[in-house]
Amino acid sequence: MSKKNDRKRRNWGSLPEKLPHPIIDTHAHIDMISGWVDDINKNNVAKNRERIHNPTLAEITNASAAVGVERFIQCACEISGIETLSDTLNDIEKNQIAGSNILKSNIPKAISAAAIHPNEAALHDNFCDPSPDGLIPIQRDIHKNLSLDEAIVSVENIIKADKRVIVVGETGLDYFRTAESGRQSQIKSFREHIRLAKDYNLTLQIHDRLAHFDVMDILQRDKAPERVIFHSFSGDSQMAEACTKKGWFLSFSGPITYKTNDDIRKALFATNKDYILLETDCPFLTPEPVRGGPNAPAYTAYTAKYISTLLDMDLEEFCKLTFNNTLNSLGI
Ligand SMILES: [Zn+2]
Repeated sequence: MSKKNDRKRRNWGSLPEKLPHPIIDTHAHIDMISGWVDDINKNNVAKNRERIHNPTLAEITNASAAVGVERFIQCACEISGIETLSDTLNDIEKNQIAGSNILKSNIPKAISAAAIHPNEAALHDNFCDPSPDGLIPIQRDIHKNLSLDEAIVSVENIIKADKRVIVVGETGLDYFRTAESGRQSQIKSFREHIRLAKDYNLTLQIHDRLAHFDVMDILQRDKAPERVIFHSFSGDSQMAEACTKKGWFLSFSGPITYKTNDDIRKALFATNKDYILLETDCPFLTPEPVRGGPNAPAYTAYTAKYISTLLDMDLEEFCKLTFNNTLNSLGI
């Protein structure tokens, strides 16, 4: 079957080679993988194509550990995921392998981020106009029944209740998926999350989509928390330089491997190496060469290898570097 047809099937790709040193996927939505695969399968069935495998959590963590991606930060960024987060983390703990000695001493089996995603923030505030990309946001009961203030209280509550939540994120601004009417809600929510990160001395993990100027401006005005990560960095080289001068970490994901994304590669070259992190944002943003199918933490290894080649760095050195950078970004 041709590559083109493979993409159409949107199937799982093959596993990457094992990395010579463990790394950490700094941004994963593990609880969304199953639903994402279900959606793919609905489409496959409708088009008379084969269903693809919907992996168990054990299969996901085993595959990930087998290639050296020994931990991931689970990111809960909507109310439903926050309400069930402790259960999700218990499941991850049960299924996660002990890890290599390098990891065992530093990083618990389950670590997590929690926040109200900027696009969710607008919905909790009843702004549901069609977005610039033409989609009509779906406001569910969970949005109608909970104001933005109440939703943010639920983030604070999970921070207080579960010590495995060590990151506030993903929060920030998204001017692509939310119409202009919802921007004030996003800004308000972002500022509240900045406050939470500072109040609880947690790392802030930022989602910034087509909102670079305002994100930088708000961080400056409100005074950023001690540790900041830009998840799935999409700014240009000037922004990358400005961020790392401030000591903010930039996390690179699948899109850096895509042919058309020269700007992200240029941004990488402008990034101080001590601030480079890796992530999947799974089940989304699947890297080459498995692009087209769903994403999972194991595939961080593809992105690691790709970036180490781009930077002309030895793969083991690069993995060590990003591993240590991740610890620094988390304050552990
Ligand atoms: Zn994400």
